[in-house]
Amino acid sequence: MPNSYRCWAEVNLDALRNNLMVLRQLVDPEVKIMTVVKADAYGHGLRQTAALLMQSGTDIFGVANLTEARNIRKVGKGWPILMLGACLPSEIDNTIKDGLMVTVSCVEEANALSDAARRLRAKVQVHLKVDTGMSRLGCTPGEVLSLGQKIQALPGLKWVGIFSHFASIDSDPRFCSTQRKRFIKILNQLSEAGIHLPYRHLHNSGGVIWENQEGINLVRPGSLVYGVIPPSPRKAPVGLADKLKPALSWKCRVALIKEIPKGATVSYGRTFKANTHMSIAILTAGYGDGYMRAGSGKAEVLIKGRRCPILGRITMDQIIVDITPLKGVLTGDEVVMIGRQGEEEIHVTELAEWNNTIPLEILTNITYRVPRIYRGAAPS
Ligand SMILES: *Cc1c(COP(=O)(O)O)cnc(C)c1O
Repeated sequence: MPNSYRCWAEVNLDALRNNLMVLRQLVDPEVKIMTVVKADAYGHGLRQTAALLMQSGTDIFGVANLTEARNIRKVGKGWPILMLGACLPSEIDNTIKDGLMVTVSCVEEANALSDAARRLRAKVQVHLKVDTGMSRLGCTPGEVLSLGQKIQALPGLKWVGIFSHFASIDSDPRFCSTQRKRFIKILNQLSEAGIHLPYRHLHNSGGVIWENQEGINLVRPGSLVYGVIPPSPRKAPVGLADKLKPALSWKCRVALIKEIPKGATVSYGRTFKANTHMSIAILTAGYGDGYMRAGSGKAEVLIKGRRCPILGRITMDQIIVDITPLKGVLTGDEVVMIGRQGEEEIHVTELAEWNNTIPLEILTNITYRVPRIYRGAAPS
């Protein structure tokens, strides 16, 4: 990497391609894949990620908002996009003009969309969301049939999908099964009413790994696309961790090396005290890059293929690490915060544990200051 980068993320496009292939093997052959690319493709960079996923055969994209959808359209036309978040009144016209599929939870949303669609002489494709236990978006299971029929009757709408979302995929298999049964019951009701929707979906990444795919024909993985298995006491299928490739590595550099005497305290708040003479390195990253402060005194980085503990508080632009056992560290050397160096690897899941959070928060917290550098198959 050119020395001009102080703190950067390397995104391996071949890993993304590989992970989508692995996903194909995890779902039934007739099941389509909606790759979820919200929050700048989980911090990987939306445009480059979307381009690669288009080339690699994703069926549909899932986004949180209009801006994300627009960025996908700039990369390539023709892919169906579902806005997973609720559509605000102020966003309706643009959502329709951009030809997005919209999530609907209630009759007011349906009416407003239909009115706007008629005014714009368009038809909006609608996925009805049902709340099977998350208490976030969605109507109650009891409302599905009547709301669905209203959607069918509205002139501006076309009802194309039904979906729900798991609330505790990583921690509570019994509740997942409750939610799945509620969803299957709804699918059966629809079928009995002669309603056959093109999209029926429930499974996020954890769902794909751990839950039966009965009745559905579309899955919505995010995490797995980027090579991250949701942390859980539930066991992932044997070999999956080896097949998936984490797509993102995160690096910085050694800015300064120095010695501190026994008794010296390190960084803000003086939370670390040297009980012996030490060699330390000052690194070119901090919480201003998204390297979370909660990992102060706990997280580790790789230098020369060795784990080096962080000493004291992480600061906005700099981190201080112990390099006492290492020989030959030089100013400018590469430091790995997430990824592999030599024989060692720090997985985003491990960094998340040090920060008492989940890998997805780590990835989506990497700030704009950190350039994303793309490696592997160049997207067209
Ligand atoms: C974010 C999201 C997903 C993807 O979740 P992962 O756990 O990353 O696979 C799927 N569905 C909905 C509704 C989401 O908001």
